[in-house]
Amino acid sequence: MLDQYAVIGNPIAHSLSPRIHATFAHQTHQALEYGAILGNLDDFAGDVRGFIAMGGRGLNVTVPFKEQAWQLLADRSPRAELAGAINTLIIHDDGRLHGDNTDGIGFMRDLIDNHGFQFTNRRVLLLGAGGAARGLVPALLTSDLAHLTVANRTVARAQQLAETHAAVDACALTELTALQPFDLIINATSSGLTDQHLPSLPAHCLAAGGWVYDLIYRPAHLPATPFCRWGTAHGAARVLDGLGMLVEQAAEAFWLWRGVRPNTAPVIAALRDQNDAV
Ligand code: NDP
Repeated sequence: MLDQYAVIGNPIAHSLSPRIHATFAHQTHQALEYGAILGNLDDFAGDVRGFIAMGGRGLNVTVPFKEQAWQLLADRSPRAELAGAINTLIIHDDGRLHGDNTDGIGFMRDLIDNHGFQFTNRRVLLLGAGGAARGLVPALLTSDLAHLTVANRTVARAQQLAETHAAVDACALTELTALQPFDLIINATSSGLTDQHLPSLPAHCLAAGGWVYDLIYRPAHLPATPFCRWGTAHGAARVLDGLGMLVEQAAEAFWLWRGVRPNTAPVIAALRDQNDAV
């Protein structure tokens, strides 16, 4: 039997991960199978046990299980430990489990390597304080950014993040009017998933020449996300969505599992060109 990998989430039908990993496997001549598991909201641990029992070698973990995965796994990488969320699970030959978080490195590789963003002296605003945001904060703090503010609908969750990372300021989404403009605004809320609009961001939030980055991605034939539309309407110098991050975080997981680094550029380009729904 080929080595088994999968992404687990709920919902999961929209996931591009099976397509991305099948392409990586083909590109790097790795013999593996990669599926999608609709996780049981009441028994994530049972789903993981079941996958291991059928010979599973690794899992990608997505909404809403990243924090449950962190609680389930005692053996975690330093970046997963800091994030408080796990998106990559490695199953060793002897059944031991190791948890990692590749969201932060995936985001940084897309923003810096694929798009050329420079963090030096930049003020950064991160919207959201869930699993994805928690993966991003430690990675952002490895850069030489000037200032990082986390704003969340539930301010207590942003404050928790600020308590863990001394260099981070926290506020509620409704408190942004009082702040100086930002050079990079990142949407790490899930509001676009249900097409609810973010509470209106004050126009002055985005500095002249500032960039916006939405972790959510949309196929080319659908309208841009509400947040990307906000960026365009407010003169953002670059408006980026999360497709590149999705591929880059997957590539890092693939490398952790297989010890081979896939070439991400053609995979991002191919997915960008495809007009089917995700
Ligand atoms: P979580 O469920 O852990 O967190 C959701 C976050 O969104 C919380 O901060 C929550 O605020 C906020 N939120 C939800 N609804 C609203 C709303 N209507 N208005 C304002 N804030 C809202 O999700 P994740 O952090 O795991 O994922 C966040 C998004 O990032 C998802 O859309 C996911 O698909 C995307 N993502 C993309 C990746 C990529 O590779 N491109 C990788 C990882 C995630 P509160 O705390 O108040 O509930």
